[in-house]
Amino acid sequence: MGIEELSVRNSRVVSDRWADSVAVRSRAPERHITVHKRLILAFSTSILMLLVVTAIAVTLAVNFEKCGENVATPPTGSNRTRNRNDDPRGGDVQPWRRSRLPTALWPRHYDLQLSIYMNNFTFSGELNIELECVNATKFIVLHADRLRVDKVAVYSNAKKPGAMRIHRHFSYPQKQVYIIALHREMKPLRTYKIQLSFQAQIQNRLLGFFRTSYMLHGERRYAAVTQFSPTHARKAFPCFDEPVYKATFRVTLTHDAFYRSVSNMPVELSSLDRDGWLTNRFFRTPRMSTYYVSWAVCDFSYRETMTHDGVMSGFGDYALHISKSLLNFYQDYFRVTYPLPKLDLLAVPKLQYAAMENWGLSVFVEQKILLDPEIVSSSYKMDLTMVVVHEICHQWLGDLVTPVWWDEVWIKEGFAHYFEFVASDFLFPGWKMKQRFLTDVLHEVLLLDGIAASYPVSQELLRVADIHRVFDWISYKKNYLVRHQYGNTARDDLWNSFSQAVRREGRDINIKEVMDGWTLQMGYPVVTISRNQSLENSISFSQEHFLYDMDAKIHQFSDKSLQWQIPLNLAVGNISHISSVSLIWISNKTETQRVGRIGEETWLLGNINQTGYFRVNYDLHNWRLLIQQLMINPTIISVENRAGLLDDVFSLARAGYLPQNLPMQIICYLSKEDDFLPWHAASRALYQLDKLLDRTEDYSLFSNYVLQQVELKYHKLDWPRVKAGDSFKQATYHADELQREVIILACSFGNKHCHRQAMSLVSEWLSTDKNSNLSPTLCRIPPSLRDVVYCTGVSLMDEDVWEFMWKKFQSSSAISEKKDLLEALTCSDNTFLLHRLLNTSLNSELLPDQELIDVLIHVARNPHALFSRALEVVQANVKWQQIYQESFFQWLSKSSCV
Ligand SMILES: [Zn+2]
Repeated sequence: MGIEELSVRNSRVVSDRWADSVAVRSRAPERHITVHKRLILAFSTSILMLLVVTAIAVTLAVNFEKCGENVATPPTGSNRTRNRNDDPRGGDVQPWRRSRLPTALWPRHYDLQLSIYMNNFTFSGELNIELECVNATKFIVLHADRLRVDKVAVYSNAKKPGAMRIHRHFSYPQKQVYIIALHREMKPLRTYKIQLSFQAQIQNRLLGFFRTSYMLHGERRYAAVTQFSPTHARKAFPCFDEPVYKATFRVTLTHDAFYRSVSNMPVELSSLDRDGWLTNRFFRTPRMSTYYVSWAVCDFSYRETMTHDGVMSGFGDYALHISKSLLNFYQDYFRVTYPLPKLDLLAVPKLQYAAMENWGLSVFVEQKILLDPEIVSSSYKMDLTMVVVHEICHQWLGDLVTPVWWDEVWIKEGFAHYFEFVASDFLFPGWKMKQRFLTDVLHEVLLLDGIAASYPVSQELLRVADIHRVFDWISYKKNYLVRHQYGNTARDDLWNSFSQAVRREGRDINIKEVMDGWTLQMGYPVVTISRNQSLENSISFSQEHFLYDMDAKIHQFSDKSLQWQIPLNLAVGNISHISSVSLIWISNKTETQRVGRIGEETWLLGNINQTGYFRVNYDLHNWRLLIQQLMINPTIISVENRAGLLDDVFSLARAGYLPQNLPMQIICYLSKEDDFLPWHAASRALYQLDKLLDRTEDYSLFSNYVLQQVELKYHKLDWPRVKAGDSFKQATYHADELQREVIILACSFGNKHCHRQAMSLVSEWLSTDKNSNLSPTLCRIPPSLRDVVYCTGVSLMDEDVWEFMWKKFQSSSAISEKKDLLEALTCSDNTFLLHRLLNTSLNSELLPDQELIDVLIHVARNPHALFSRALEVVQANVKWQQIYQESFFQWLSKSSCV
């Protein structure tokens, strides 16, 4: 191709703030990437857990059950974190000062009766706990947080039943516990009963037992819901609030009959008294952890009214429909029947997380469970599907099989995340979810894990604060990936060939050691593959810790150099042929190996189908051959690898391993790319680069260059065709997604045709709406492109369009439509309108808090907004700009694809 190469600068200094650009929303709106960013916990070090998916679930089930049932044995597993001054005779002086509950007592059953006052948002409770004593103790230590405990009594069920004398009872807020100190010791192997009454508020904070609200016919209505995971059951009733203390629960709720109530189990007994108070007693649950206990008190007539009006009707149908298939799928997969008599999926306006998998009563924010099938876009539908798949998976892995302590919660989250892809693939094979995994999970984690502030997968968790800190998704997804790189390869049996290769080489490899390299060290390696110039037909491999910021590496890691044992799949190929794959085991910093015959025109390709958790770099000659291959016949290389090459080349250039022009050269082949996945990988990388360059003088050099690569495909795919009144032609999912991706790229980088098209659709909607008040269902804007059309319209057209969208936002009842409209409102360049949106949002009842948060986020991302991004741009990217920007533009100014 003869394009002049830029030299690689010596010092690779790029700000690690690159990593912040993961969720970049460029000029066009980009779908929210995932919904589980903060749900997640950290990890165990067990190597077996990393390797065998299903077997482990079974083993854990057995272990956890043993743990719970054998009350003579205190909980094991994570007890290494316990206080060492544990006196076996229960004579510990102040056991409530420890970070974990003392192990002397074991709850068996909770009988919980609550009276709920929705008029002043308070509740009072009567609680009976049956427990067994394991070790003699005078102290009962229970979790309780912000509860006012009034009355306390303790009864012995021994030969002489009766009340035990209480020395004193008091709360110790530092550890969120309530202590009952007895005069005499409780004795091992005996059972006791505690009675407590307490009062508390129904909080407005999305934790514990909290309230949430919504507007109906201009009136604010309230519902009260629970969110106990991870450590908030203690805000609703005194309990042993650690996952290992499984017990049965019988919940009874009394409330104004205007409301209805639900809980984990169905109603066993219901009674209405003369004052209009309704009491629902629910069936006793199976043994379960406190954080999965749940109930809700809501004005269900709201839904019925809405259904009657025909407004809300059917919004939950889709979730119900897939839930039914999913229950069957999981029952078959786990060979365990769904253990409860019912499963409610409750939609609430606001929740701390996207959803919470309470046993038998999963709670979702509306956006993750309700959809209007008439106007929903495929990406919204996919997001929602994955959330439902995830939560229903937890009914088994989580609710039924529960980790002992929070450092093992990655197991349930890892599995649920794994099934997001497996079960969605089962529901919709056309979505090719296993491919989608590469761009949406692998590439994103490689980006996050390449910064210096990353941390190892395995870490011990001691305090409550730690538990919350590790609700972080790098660690969670990475851990999943580390397992996945071996676990998902059943098809080509990588695991098998890996063992064989090890044996063939006569190496004595300790598998635990290998895996520890991946779980105990932070980050991941880049493997550089290059031809050995001095030795014919041999290749040199080297590995180093991949970091975006070389400075960080020098400062932080000078004392120890990280090294991995890497199973590298390698193929060699030429214009028309690719060889079979061989596995090469790289355990040293550098090594040389002979690999068949390598001619001048033969290229090497590593990490076949992107199954490994690392990046691959090559010598420049090899990169040139790969690019040439993509230009001439891309499909010789698998679609997974094409996406992987794009992600690697952009990241390697950004970190200074490669010349800046290389990514620009590789995207020249995109006009020949017919698959969605590589386009998706490229656009993610281009939006990140765009964020760096979009306020620079020569920006148009960059945007024009990108447009040149996009336009051919854009014109070929065009916009979805439709005649008035017709429904849109249903292409396959990936064709649909590809068209959307290319249209968004075209509109974002300023293609005039794309802009005109979007604006004419908006104008048409405006004019037809004036005449006939058509719903967007009937207007001609394709569902999958509503967000980009609305946003383009608002940013390029006059104020009337903004007003129109604002009006539509207020009147629309479809959640996905509201979301698109709200995001579009923030696309305006007009500071006055943005001001108005913010003010109205802050001061009006029109927006629920969840939407208010969305407004703030989107306005903050808009470069014209009040929150200037200047600081971020300066701090985050100044290094890259100083070092590479000038030469980058120089190259662009004289280059184009041949
Ligand atoms: Zn989860």
